[in-house]
Amino acid sequence: MDANGLRRKLIVQETSAGAEACVNGQEMLMLASNNYLGLAGDERLIEAARDAAEKWGTGSTGSRLLSGTQREHVALEQELAVFKGTEDAVLFNSGYIANLAVISTLCGRDDIIFSDELNHASIIDGCRLAHSRIVIYRHNDMDNLAQKLREIRPTRGLVVSDAVFSMDGDIVQLPRLLELSRQYGLFSMIDEAHATGVIGPGGHGTAAHFGLREGPDITLGTLSKALGGEGGFVCGRSLLCDYLRNRARGFIFTTAMSPVTAAVARTALRVLQQSPELPQQLAANVKVFVDTLRERGIVTSTESAIVPIPVGDEQRTVQIAARLRQRGIFLSAIRYPTVALGEARLRASIMATHSPEELCRAAQIIADELRP
Ligand code: PMP
Repeated sequence: MDANGLRRKLIVQETSAGAEACVNGQEMLMLASNNYLGLAGDERLIEAARDAAEKWGTGSTGSRLLSGTQREHVALEQELAVFKGTEDAVLFNSGYIANLAVISTLCGRDDIIFSDELNHASIIDGCRLAHSRIVIYRHNDMDNLAQKLREIRPTRGLVVSDAVFSMDGDIVQLPRLLELSRQYGLFSMIDEAHATGVIGPGGHGTAAHFGLREGPDITLGTLSKALGGEGGFVCGRSLLCDYLRNRARGFIFTTAMSPVTAAVARTALRVLQQSPELPQQLAANVKVFVDTLRERGIVTSTESAIVPIPVGDEQRTVQIAARLRQRGIFLSAIRYPTVALGEARLRASIMATHSPEELCRAAQIIADELRP
C-alpha cells in the first residue's frame, strides 16, 4: 500500500463541525465535509441534543423490537416519511447498514439485481449479502440498462442506483430508471445519501428534483450528511417498512440509535423545512466554485455539492492534497479502491455556510497546484 500511495491515515480534526478545519493546530478551509448545510454545528441541533439527553438519557438501551424504541424514533420515522412523500419510513444506525439491510432482506438467490457500475460500496456490499445474481450496467446509462433488461428478461429483482453519485456528483436518470423497472416488474431503489437536503426544491430529493408524482419503491437516505447527525433510513410503502422491521437483520440485531440522535435529526428536518433557502445557497456556492475552477482551465462538472477534480495518478493526487493543506485548504484525495486505479481525484464538498470569497480563493489555489 505504501509503495502505491494507497495507505491511509486518520486525520484528527480539532474544531467543532463547521466551514473551517483545524489539523495539528493549522486552520484550513473545510472542503471535505458532508455537512453540506452546516447543520452539524448549528446551535438549534446542539440544543436539541442537550434537551434530549436530559429527557431520555444517552442510550436507547436495546434493539428497536425490544426496549429501544422511544417516542423520538417513531416521530422521526413519521416525519421522514412526510418529508419524502411516502407512507412510512424505517430507521437504521447508518446509511451503510441501511443499504446492507434493505437489499439483503428484499433480494435473495432467485432475484437479479441491476446495479450502476459507480454505486456506493454499501450498495455493492448489500448486493453481495443478498446472494442474488448481480448485473452491472454502465454508469447512469439507461440505454445500457434497457439493453441488459431486454437480454435477460428478469421476472423478479431490483434496479438500484445512487441518487447523487458520491465520487462524481452527478444525478441518476430517475424517470427512465423508474420506467424500466416498472416495465419489468422489478423493485426500484435509490440511495439519496448526497441528495437529501441538497437536491430538489427545499432539498426534498431526487423525485422532487424531477417533479415526479411517484418516486421509487425504496428511497434510502442518511442523517449523517446534509442533516448534520448520523443514522440511515428507508422510506417507502407501509408494507415494505413493516416487512423490514420484521425481517431486516440490520434493524433487528443491533441496539437502536440513541434517542438523542433521533431528536437531533428531527430538529434538522424542521430547520431544513423552515429554511428552504439553505439548499439554494448551497447551489449558488457550488456554481461560484465550479465557475472559478473552469475559468482557470480545470475541467470539472457537477449537479450536486460534490465537485470531482480529476488528477489520475494516486501518488500525485496525495501530494497535491498535502500541498493544498499547507496552503490552508482541506479536501479529500480519493483513490483506489474508492475509485478505479488511475482515476484518482481531488473531491471538494461545498457547504452552504462557505462564503463565495472563500470558495473563489480556494478554487484559484487548487487550479494553481494542479498546473503541470
Ligand atoms: N450511500 C452513499 C451514496 C454514501 O456516500 C454513503 C456515505 N459515504 C453511505 C451510503 C453511507 O451512509 P452513512 O455514512 O450514513 O453510513
